[in-house]
Amino acid sequence: MSEALKDSLQALIDQGLTFSDCMATFTANQSEAEKAYIAAAREFHEREGDLEFDDHVMVSMGNDDGAYVLAWKWVEDTDAGVCSECKAPVCDPEDGECPECGEEESQ
Ligand SMILES: [Zn+2]
Repeated sequence: MSEALKDSLQALIDQGLTFSDCMATFTANQSEAEKAYIAAAREFHEREGDLEFDDHVMVSMGNDDGAYVLAWKWVEDTDAGVCSECKAPVCDPEDGECPECGEEESQ
């Protein structure tokens, strides 16, 4: 991405552009095949609270027998080593206490 494009995008973000706006725009003219992959992703792979698909999702068509469908994967604080109280990245979550807020880490 060129610096001019980055500057233009940042200006739009400053004016209120969201990631969802971008997704809606990028997916406005999806093919029937892309829509079929999204429908199949929802039907066979969506698990509420674990793996979810937005209303407008990108599809990456490849040369193999399938396509990638953009999803949201839930990750627990404990898996990421992030403090559940203040969301600070904690170097060693098994250390017992968040260095930022002092919250006891529960395992
Ligand atoms: Zn904390």
